[in-house]
Amino acid sequence: MDLLIFLLNLPELYESLFNRITNTDMNSNNKKYKQERKCSNCGFLEQRQVSHTEASFEITRRWEDPCPQCGSNSFGMISDSPVLTEESLSIWANDEKMYFLGQDEHLMLAEEENIDLLVSFLDNQSVPASKRSILLAALCIILFDNLLEENIQDGYASEEISEYLVSILKKRLKYFSELDTIDISGYVRKVVYPVLGLKQSK
Ligand SMILES: [Zn+2]
Repeated sequence: MDLLIFLLNLPELYESLFNRITNTDMNSNNKKYKQERKCSNCGFLEQRQVSHTEASFEITRRWEDPCPQCGSNSFGMISDSPVLTEESLSIWANDEKMYFLGQDEHLMLAEEENIDLLVSFLDNQSVPASKRSILLAALCIILFDNLLEENIQDGYASEEISEYLVSILKKRLKYFSELDTIDISGYVRKVVYPVLGLKQSK
């Protein structure tokens, strides 16, 4: 009881303890992700290993120390890209400063295997609207990919996935007026909106 009161009085401490507990429980975070960078000036090659969480976000992926050999700050870098997990999406959804990519995050999130995860965070009213609008755009991209005539002809589209997504989004049409739809491009609207019974002008 004393400990609980102590924790409640120190929200930052509570938060860091909480993060530590959840991080330890993350199976995905036990896996290490490789980063490799090459100095553009002298060609010095370096490697390091980062956690799933570190590899997931642009701000924690950065590797900005100068080249140990020549002091240059210019590098070419490659990083293993981790799959989206409930943990990483939760960090992203609850912190405006955390982003997976500086732009077009909806394109990165638009993977079929992410559908249920994206929907669960889209429905969570405690997630900021700015983040939920990215999730809505990502779901529209997945639907677009599975409705596009070329993809159907080439065998890249799945009717099962498009039907699943249509049923999901039709139950959530109010989000299209409640949330910002700026990330849903015109070419996506053209294909997706009629299927959902939405007007493209919005
Ligand atoms: Zn160098």
